[in-house]
Amino acid sequence: MALAQNMPLLSRLVSSSVAIASHAGGIIRDILKKGELGIVEKENASDLQTEADRAAQRCIISSLNKCFPKITIIGEEGEEETLDTSDKVFDPDAMPAVNVKCPSELSSLAEEEIVVWVDPLDGTAEYTQAHRLGELHHLSLRLLDHVTVLIGIAHSGKAIGGIIHQPYFNYQTPGGKLGRTVWGVVGGEVGGMPLTSPPEGKLIVTTTRSHSSSTVNDAISAVSPDEVLRVGGAGHKVMLLLEGKAHLYVFASPGCKKWDTCAPQAVLEAAGGVLTDIKGIPIPYHSTAPHRNSTGVLASAAGIPHKEFVNKIPQHVKDNLKA
Ligand code: AMP
Ligand code: MG
Ligand code: MG
Repeated sequence: MALAQNMPLLSRLVSSSVAIASHAGGIIRDILKKGELGIVEKENASDLQTEADRAAQRCIISSLNKCFPKITIIGEEGEEETLDTSDKVFDPDAMPAVNVKCPSELSSLAEEEIVVWVDPLDGTAEYTQAHRLGELHHLSLRLLDHVTVLIGIAHSGKAIGGIIHQPYFNYQTPGGKLGRTVWGVVGGEVGGMPLTSPPEGKLIVTTTRSHSSSTVNDAISAVSPDEVLRVGGAGHKVMLLLEGKAHLYVFASPGCKKWDTCAPQAVLEAAGGVLTDIKGIPIPYHSTAPHRNSTGVLASAAGIPHKEFVNKIPQHVKDNLKA
């Protein structure tokens, strides 16, 4: 089913991105299955890139460019991306697409006004660990649950649409359908999963598993959680908020980037939650915004009083994280 050209651009973009993200998820699974990860260190030993990150980004950017030639796309893995012969440009217009409702205020955007932030593989640390540990060991840690593909759509510096694909959703459920794609439009709706509220009467915080620091831990202690879930990936942590498994995502560190938060923020806000920096200030997503979220991340599930938790973050933690 080709996507009708008279549908709002945002509906077409989200719908196409659902199909593209899911295709990229297949590339990520294939590369892990083959076992040739081609690991490269980026900024340091805890910041890795694999062939799966590269190939998934090539697929996503080439496919989006083909369908939406005038949008600005910023991908985590940079701009070296020319297609090699083994890559296929995926044509989402050839696929049955999801029906995405668009709120009236976002129904007449032009391609030139849109910025798309792409994290082709969020949770690379856990993906490479799953490979290193081998099946017997990584299954018990459920490391592949931490991997997501993130396509975030921004307009006027705000996250307005997001796609979170989980390539390994259900991978440990016998007979379960492998993979899931969740999408959201701010002021519109969330599709692809049931939304669940976190339990009342306790506070469950999720945070990083592989990029911790004393500042990260000070911020967590200050909100007095009953439980802390240390897991990988910004996409996965926001999924925990949407699934009712955690109330808050606390990350008082400058390590996270715009491509980590744009898609999760849009889906979370479409579901009634909030994502800001650790000081409660909105994160800007203009094409010229610095890539790094240098003032950290604080996200709350729907119904959680975000501002109260911003106020609990200690001043020395806030002072440590400078824009
Ligand atoms: P985490 O919660 O540690 O999985 O991090 C969420 C996202 O932010 C992932 O894409 C990480 O690669 C990125 N990130 C967080 N902290 C750092 C850091 N110190 N260095 C590089 N990337 C980081
Ligand atoms: Mg990431
Ligand atoms: Mg990544």
